[in-house]
Amino acid sequence: LSEPLAGSDVASMTTRATRDGDSYVIKGRKAWISHAGHADFYTTFARTSDDGGRGLSCFIVPGDAEGLEFGAPEKKMGLHCDTVREVIFNDVRVDADRRIGDEGQGMAIALSALDSGRLGIAAGATGLAQGALDVAAAYAKEREQFGRPIAANQGLAFLIADMEAAITSARATYLHAARLRDAGRAFSKEAAVAKLVCTDAAMQVTTDAVQVLGGAGYTQDFPVERYMREAKVAQIFEGTNQIQRLVISRHVLA
Ligand SMILES: Cc1cc2nc3c(=O)[nH]c(=O)nc-3n(C[C@H](O)[C@H](O)[C@H](O)COP(=O)(O)OP(=O)(O)OC[C@H]3O[C@@H](n4cnc5c(N)ncnc54)[C@H](O)[C@@H]3O)c2cc1C
Repeated sequence: LSEPLAGSDVASMTTRATRDGDSYVIKGRKAWISHAGHADFYTTFARTSDDGGRGLSCFIVPGDAEGLEFGAPEKKMGLHCDTVREVIFNDVRVDADRRIGDEGQGMAIALSALDSGRLGIAAGATGLAQGALDVAAAYAKEREQFGRPIAANQGLAFLIADMEAAITSARATYLHAARLRDAGRAFSKEAAVAKLVCTDAAMQVTTDAVQVLGGAGYTQDFPVERYMREAKVAQIFEGTNQIQRLVISRHVLA
């Protein structure tokens, strides 16, 4: 979906798919593509007309298609398991039957996929926060200063309480959205709320976990510094948290 000059503003993408007989020829450049160079297939959105967001279509492109090239892996602050690279389409020819849906349905397909994807990000972020709290609580009970466990200080115990409250409320938002989805009801707004609440909670909780561990939290001897770095990206991808606010406010003000 993303391109170097079209991130949050998906509808401004310029990658183009031009119909040529029984196939399309795709030309353009995608940015930030997870698992690029490893995937067997790429779900790709490209412009089939100049009608803004209504001019996008969706294609399945085989990973070994002629003309498909990949940029250098991005040097990221975390998520090292996920190779992220540009995907360059140099006149890549794909059969017309590899188009998903009709021409012009690309935006609707993308938005629908993002709704579900946001639930996955929200759930993952909540698990990340829970992991950070587990490490922080165990450390706070064991580490002693001033002759007693640091957890015996109300100032620190209240920080742990706030972490628990943030995680519990975050979990409720994504479960609510997921239940609506399972019931076949509208869940777009709730998915955006869950993505926003859960990833902001993960950022706060993982940062606080580093604080609970003090200097040890800042080292790679404990996992919380990594959790903090992993939490950051969840506020950015699958639509930044500013874009979630855009989605939510449009629903509320419609
Ligand atoms: C590790 C990683 C993996 C990714 N994987 C994929 C992938 O597999 N496929 C894919 O398509 N993309 C992927 N992305 C891209 C990701 O979805 C984009 O980074 C994201 O949508 C934001 O786009 P951008 O980076 O161009 O930021 P921009 O859109 O340039 O935004 C920059 C800042 O401006 C803010 N902003 C922009 N517009 C508004 C507005 N209207 N109101 C308020 N604030 C605004 C944003 O919130 C952000 O803070 C990945 C990104 C990362 C970091």
